[in-house]
Amino acid sequence: MSLQFHQFAYNSDNYGVLIHDASTGATACVDAGDAKAISAALAETGWSLSHLWITHHHWDHTDGLAEIKRDTGCVVVGPEGIDGVDDALKGGDQFEFAGHKVEVIHTPGHTLDMLNFHVPAAEVVFTGDTMFVMGCGRLFEGDGPMMWESMQKLMKLPLDTKVYCAHEYTLASLDFALSIDPTNDALHAQADRVRMMRAAGEPTVPTDMKTEMATNPFLRPDDPAIRSQLGMANATNADVFTEIRKRKDTF
Ligand code: ZN
Ligand code: FE
Repeated sequence: MSLQFHQFAYNSDNYGVLIHDASTGATACVDAGDAKAISAALAETGWSLSHLWITHHHWDHTDGLAEIKRDTGCVVVGPEGIDGVDDALKGGDQFEFAGHKVEVIHTPGHTLDMLNFHVPAAEVVFTGDTMFVMGCGRLFEGDGPMMWESMQKLMKLPLDTKVYCAHEYTLASLDFALSIDPTNDALHAQADRVRMMRAAGEPTVPTDMKTEMATNPFLRPDDPAIRSQLGMANATNADVFTEIRKRKDTF
């Protein structure tokens, strides 16, 4: 039985996702930034929450944790050090969700505790605030080389992998990507697509690894055109990545 996914918006630009296994009735939610938004998504789907998968400690991912745990009795997995986490996870861990293997990927950089969740059989990954559509998270706790290491872990996932990220930052990320990679045809095609989607009020999430590998400048520091645009033809990938991240901070 394949998993079902239900994405919902909260705050000004956050996304959460419910993951449902119909044969067992198990339902997980990725992050818990807003208990009311999760409750509304559960009411809409008719699903009962059994698990929370927390990506990192920031408030917009954890503020509703205590309330939703109290209301549903769900089991909470996530990084060590977050109030209410029942089973602390670390990179390389695996757990089972309704018979589906979930791989835990540690992707520090935005925060040091960041965990991403990969469900190989469903070809889906939840990247929290590590990777966005054409973007990557701001470096609050880590540095460029650390985040580049994290990006490379995601880049090893199969190209068909669907990517659910935690924010709708796509149009801002697009403008920046075009400034770094202006001659990329795939990026221009993606620009047309996401502008139409946003104009129609549609989410641009999920994306997929194939699209991101072709358009996300934070996955492309080895690209000759990007390197020449930055005047960094002979730098390391980590240095090019760090420069791209630095430019995004002031874009
Ligand atoms: Zn965050
Ligand atoms: Fe966030």
